Amino acid sequence: MASEKELTQKTRKQSFQTPRGMKDILAEDWLYYDFILQNAKKIFEFYGFKRIETPLLEEAELFTKGVGKKTEIVGKEMYLLKTKGEQGFLALRPEGTAPIVRAYIEKGMFNLPQPIKLYYFGSFFRHEKPQAGRYRQFYQFGAEIIGEDDIASEVKIIMLSKIFLESLGFAKKDIFLLLNSIGCSKCRAVYIRELKKYYRKNNKQICSDCRRRIQENPLRVLDCKNEKCYPVKEGAPFILDYLCTECNNHFKSLLEYLEYLNIPYILDKTLVRGLDYYTRTVFEFCLDDEKSKISLGGGGRYDKLAEIIGRVKKPGVGVAFGVERLMEEMIQRGKGFKSAKPEVFLVYIGEAAKKMSFKILEQFRKEKILIGENLEKNNLRAQLKNADRLGVKYVFMLGQQEVLDEMIILKDMNSGLQELIPLDKIIPEIKKRLNK
Ligand SMILES: [Zn+2]
Ligand SMILES: [Zn+2]
Repeated sequence: MASEKELTQKTRKQSFQTPRGMKDILAEDWLYYDFILQNAKKIFEFYGFKRIETPLLEEAELFTKGVGKKTEIVGKEMYLLKTKGEQGFLALRPEGTAPIVRAYIEKGMFNLPQPIKLYYFGSFFRHEKPQAGRYRQFYQFGAEIIGEDDIASEVKIIMLSKIFLESLGFAKKDIFLLLNSIGCSKCRAVYIRELKKYYRKNNKQICSDCRRRIQENPLRVLDCKNEKCYPVKEGAPFILDYLCTECNNHFKSLLEYLEYLNIPYILDKTLVRGLDYYTRTVFEFCLDDEKSKISLGGGGRYDKLAEIIGRVKKPGVGVAFGVERLMEEMIQRGKGFKSAKPEVFLVYIGEAAKKMSFKILEQFRKEKILIGENLEKNNLRAQLKNADRLGVKYVFMLGQQEVLDEMIILKDMNSGLQELIPLDKIIPEIKKRLNK
């Protein structure tokens, strides 16, 4: 704990900035966050998904146990906090699935009719190297189906994810689905033995990270981004060749559904998704780009997670999308949007008109007609300057005399024509002119 003196010394600064890798979300950004959430809500709620929000902080052990100590996001990137009165560490949540499964167990949701369908939209934290489009605090939208191991859960999650991406304006032909199965603990063990054997044989052709990975977290060698490792990766054994009968049937059934539903996919043997809890199906949604594929999000099945963190044998499937990544790609592809601008503005002169203006603005709000105002400024010119900047079509002008006469001046900004209108006719008159 820093002493008070230390704290004041450290904060004796002239100005402050957001912490590295973090950002302020401003009004223009919120348009995207809101749009993305609204689309997700509409699609997933139709299929019975209910919203959940877990705390930003969880016991760190939930992630070390559930996601895996040696995964990047837990082993290297997790924010840990030590607070008074807590045993062990708290962690700023690096991902959403483990907390939701924790809630599922803690709240006894396994006693309810299964499966339980949940979605979330919130902040997550990873201490990554800051780079374009990657933040240390970022938003994710995610959905989980917990409680059944039927293929319908995967099909639902994948189908809805695709519809969701299309709803954001991404072209059908640009979205593609990478798919793999990493089997169950039984068949994966057999595969990993073969993979280790193969990588040991090619020990000289791989990077030092892979030499470590093949011991600690062997599947991760398959998503090594080091070019040196590409040829070795190409020749690596394919996990789909090692699936046990149950895993194989499960995967085949998924492919049949996807074909039936016209959801194209690409089998990708290097797709393993970095988290320990995945079993069987793993998938990723990407955007086709001239340079390289851009990952928007992904997920998979996690049949052992509930058992690992809470000794409850319940399977699950989930997906998560990085909201900032979606946003950035929407902007890149010209799917951006701007905030709605008012077409009408209200200016006033004098105290009585200023007071009356509040009542007039309320009439507009109730009718859902945007109207600009600058009530803080008593100077008429300053108010008109603001109206000008917004480029409004009509300006209402209210002065002392108009208040007394219960009239208002309406000015058409294009023609410059002005007319007097009774105060109680403002709304129908403006609706007529705006064709509303
Ligand atoms: Zn298996
Ligand atoms: Zn490598």
